[in-house]
Amino acid sequence: MATMTERTATDTPSPLDDPAQWIICEHCDSLYQAQSLNKGEAAYCLRCAALLDRGHRMTIEQMLALSIAAGILFIFANVFPVISISMKGLYNEVTLWGSVEALAQGQITLIALVAGLAIILAPALQIALLFWVLVHAHRNEIAPGFKTCMRTLEHLRPWSMLEVCLLGILVAIVKLAGMLDVHPGVGLWAMAMLMVLIVLIAGKDIRRLWDELGVEPE
Ligand SMILES: [Zn+2]
Repeated sequence: MATMTERTATDTPSPLDDPAQWIICEHCDSLYQAQSLNKGEAAYCLRCAALLDRGHRMTIEQMLALSIAAGILFIFANVFPVISISMKGLYNEVTLWGSVEALAQGQITLIALVAGLAIILAPALQIALLFWVLVHAHRNEIAPGFKTCMRTLEHLRPWSMLEVCLLGILVAIVKLAGMLDVHPGVGLWAMAMLMVLIVLIAGKDIRRLWDELGVEPE
């Protein structure tokens, strides 16, 4: 124990000299010295109990595999109908794109724009950017445009609202079930699985790539 203290004092500079060793609570601005965490461990703020950091649950390879799976599910969610309705021999089904198109034809085109962004464009961009940075990280390379990709991913996170859309569809199914024959389609199942994958791979966990690839923010 004594030798370790000695080594820290002589060989390595104080951790506070290196900003990469600091971790700031996003909720109350408390400053801590970063600790390396093992899988399953988590660090919480002493002052406000917010989550500071989590041990990585997945390797880069696993995240890459999940981003490919997310890409396939995204195609499924957009190609197959999310909901089908039948009543007295009449049958209708709608895809995600079809619902955005239907909104665009009415008076509320602005809503169609927001819906298109939140349920199609933002998740598609997230998956594409994640795949791009991860496929390079997998080969220990820094993807071209890495900083822009990572920053765009941060900005996209609040705009990707698949869960809101999914909740809306489920409410519609429950409400309509009494009056019509409503069936959830393949697209809806794909969307539900995609939502879980996006939470897993596009969360704050991806920020570790900055450190792991040794990219300086500026
Ligand atoms: Zn805090």
